[in-house]
Amino acid sequence: MTDRSNELDAWDRDHFFHPSTHMAGHARGETPNRIVTGAEGVYIVDREGRRSLDAFGGLYCVNVGYGRTEIADAIAAQAHSLAYYHAYAGHGSEPSIRLSKMIIDRAPAGMSRVYYGLSGSDANETNIKLIWYYNNVLGRPEKKKIISRHRGYHGSGVMTGSLTGLPGFHRAFDLPRAPVLHTMAPYYFRRDDLSMSEEAFSDLCAASLEKTILEEGPETVAAFIGEPVLGTGGIVPPPAGYWDKIQAVLARYDILLVVDEVITGFGRLGTMFGSEFYGLRPDLMTIAKGLTSAYAPLSGVVVSDKVWKVLEDGSDAMGPIGHGWTYSAHPICTAAGIANLDLIDRMGLVENAADVGAYLRRALTAAVGDHPIVGDIRGEGMLAAVEFVADRETRRFFDPALKVGPRIAAALAARGVLGRGMPEGDILGFAPPLCLTREEADIVAAATKGAVETVAAEL
Ligand code: PMP
Repeated sequence: MTDRSNELDAWDRDHFFHPSTHMAGHARGETPNRIVTGAEGVYIVDREGRRSLDAFGGLYCVNVGYGRTEIADAIAAQAHSLAYYHAYAGHGSEPSIRLSKMIIDRAPAGMSRVYYGLSGSDANETNIKLIWYYNNVLGRPEKKKIISRHRGYHGSGVMTGSLTGLPGFHRAFDLPRAPVLHTMAPYYFRRDDLSMSEEAFSDLCAASLEKTILEEGPETVAAFIGEPVLGTGGIVPPPAGYWDKIQAVLARYDILLVVDEVITGFGRLGTMFGSEFYGLRPDLMTIAKGLTSAYAPLSGVVVSDKVWKVLEDGSDAMGPIGHGWTYSAHPICTAAGIANLDLIDRMGLVENAADVGAYLRRALTAAVGDHPIVGDIRGEGMLAAVEFVADRETRRFFDPALKVGPRIAAALAARGVLGRGMPEGDILGFAPPLCLTREEADIVAAATKGAVETVAAEL
């Protein structure tokens, strides 16, 4: 139980409504109540003076690591010169224009415009509206449905929460509530037929998508949205051949591809974007998190030439686009973005993500790969996950009531390393800052071994 005599604790319980937190449990003092006061590199420090290695980079977002004065200074300088001006009706600010150029220089071929928001969720809301606008301009008012995947995560709004394919984000809110369909997750480890090859499983995913499109009528399906690697759904890289096969189906029915790069953008997979890693050709791309490494809230929709041309052609008939946020292209946030992208380049973080990320998975495999409750160790770049099973031979999962994943995450935190017990399934996820060193990866692996052995002994 928390000491209620401490007034910050009391105010926290009484007045601060935490996101993604069990409300009654928090009021009863069952959640950790970790008040973070400082951070440096890959470490955070809390009010009790505990130093923890943040192997989840906040929420997969602190790509450059904590405490980078270059970004803090850029934010301060911008706040002193111009803290805010809006971007409506052609207005703007210098950092917003410069950042747009930097993003397009780094983006896959064929992308040309950036529309700014503040969160991955609002950027995906923008995507949906642009997709509808696009088909209205093209005189296809019935082509509006959007297909996402089971286990996809695309936000917490009404529309984007509907795109999200995780029941925990639907329950209690009457979602999904949008013209959204969910297709198979490319989750090879959880395939029904254990004898199936990766390529065959990718064929199955593509065939299942095509079946849905044909059942609904291709003339009603506007877009497909997916994360290059499933993130919150379990940190699941796709099986071999998956994206090529999916893109072939989409091309056949003139369906736009929205690549949600909120996690994978800006180096996470060891390439600047996940699209580069998998050979994806996005029509629209969602960016957030690593765009500023979370030093300031900023997201964007990166629009391809193909989509832009249609939007622009339609604008004489439609008038000024009836879609804007007060804080679109907020200059403090875009100034943070410029300093952050400079830092990613100067520190060589994309290359480090590839190198140390692969090292981290090898270290995890050496530490727990043979443990009887470890069913799968996977990842790509600076993303890793360990999935736990009750029986390795039959791939039988644990009873969710045992809460194996959350218990292992808690045992890890007690050892001074923060991973994440992923919301669906017993999966321990890692998404460290891209500046992680091999020595720090060894610390993560050793703590994981200790946590797995402790919880396994209790089971
Ligand atoms: N898309 C993906 C792939 C995400 O991982 C997230 C957040 N975890 C979002 C969208 C939503 O971003 P936000 O929480 O900033 O709204």
